Amino acid sequence: MARIETPKRVRGTQDIFGDEQRRFAQVLATFEHVHGLYAFQRLDLPVFEDTQVFARSIGETTDVVSKEMYTFPDRGGDLLTLRPEFTAGIARAYLTEGWQQYAPLKLVTSGAVFRYERPQKGRYRQFHQIDAEILGAPEPAADVELLVMADQLLRKLGISEGVTLQLNTLGDAATRDAWRDALVAHFEAHRDQLSEDSLVRLEKNPLRILDSKDPRDRPIADAAPDIDAYLTPEARAFFEAVTAGLDAAGVAWTRNARLVRGLDYYRHTAFEFVTDRLGSQGTVLAGGRYDGLIESLGGPATAGVGWAAGVERLAMLLDEPEKPVIDAVVVPMGAAAELRATGLVAELRRMDIATDMAFRGNMKRRMAKANDQGASYALILGDDELANGQVQVKALTTGEQAKVPLDTVAQSLSDLLFEDEIAEDHGERLPPLAQRLTTA
Ligand code: ATP
Ligand code: MG
Repeated sequence: MARIETPKRVRGTQDIFGDEQRRFAQVLATFEHVHGLYAFQRLDLPVFEDTQVFARSIGETTDVVSKEMYTFPDRGGDLLTLRPEFTAGIARAYLTEGWQQYAPLKLVTSGAVFRYERPQKGRYRQFHQIDAEILGAPEPAADVELLVMADQLLRKLGISEGVTLQLNTLGDAATRDAWRDALVAHFEAHRDQLSEDSLVRLEKNPLRILDSKDPRDRPIADAAPDIDAYLTPEARAFFEAVTAGLDAAGVAWTRNARLVRGLDYYRHTAFEFVTDRLGSQGTVLAGGRYDGLIESLGGPATAGVGWAAGVERLAMLLDEPEKPVIDAVVVPMGAAAELRATGLVAELRRMDIATDMAFRGNMKRRMAKANDQGASYALILGDDELANGQVQVKALTTGEQAKVPLDTVAQSLSDLLFEDEIAEDHGERLPPLAQRLTTA
């Protein structure tokens, strides 16, 4: 018979397991915790949308839309795209569901996003983002709140060291038009030195030349005029309100006058949290204000501001994750004990005690597995114990053992675990196990 080739993982996708998975889960759990402190509501969205949703809101001239989208006709002939980000879908949902009535609306979501890119460390074709948006709030206080939340998330993850918040303003419509004209004049004067990509950008999206990574573009981009000379008093006041809010909240930032978001509907605030620890994949969290986006989808003028962060990139920055632990392992010896142990395990789990019991193996192997799993206690049940209606409780951290009645062991263990937790919180020493179990 011909040998069947085993299937491979699709290029740029990941099977996330073990320590990597624990880091990943820690990012998501920390995000849940932090956004709860800021009273955001979670939203869950479709993984795919009509291609137009992304094409119109992200913009045809961006890399994401022109090169990176997973787009396909479904069996009915509709053109669909796997989401390459969340903001477009959130704006679409806001319109479809008529959420204007709830504005201002503070929303978060997370999950898989898809981009056809060249895979490398920190860059995948299916990756994951956490995302936070405030819709219907034109006030700079919304920008501040999102930035303070992002900063708190990074601190809570323990990775704020070496991460810088880079901040810029793109001004209001009048500012931006004036600045754009000045940039076009500057780049036109240096046409012959620009890369091919930037010549295309000059036609379609000249602001993007500012963040070009091509070394040929850098000197010209670096010498380009800053936005500052073109800021209207209103735009200047908005930026000052954002920076004053950050200062008041104790969030450090630096100005990066070269930081842009390419599309016409971006206004005012643009920002990135950048680390020096991930090489060219150094942007861990990025966002800005997009007051014109909902209009570009055919909706009423609606303010919006938000950010997205790559879960994998945040996870890569985390220290060694804590090993998982469980409360107890039940170790039966013999067929009769095995069956009684099945009942005991069920009872413990129903009492919210994290318990495991190996499906097979001798005493030695089962005890070794209990240690690997980081169990606090082993409950050993042999024929002798069974005959006497008893079970051996072994504290795996100290090696102490004591026998207790089988009928009440679940409650005894529950009490032990509770005392252990209190003692740990207060740094207290506990009496010997035998004493604790008899006085319990
Ligand atoms: P980059 O410049 O690294 O391509 P981007 O500007 O395309 O990033 P955004 O669209 O702002 O990124 O997405 C927000 C965040 O999502 C990024 O800051 C990064 O952490 C993460 N991210 C973006 N693309 C990928 C990818 N292909 N794989 C893993 N994470 C990614
Ligand atoms: Mg990209």
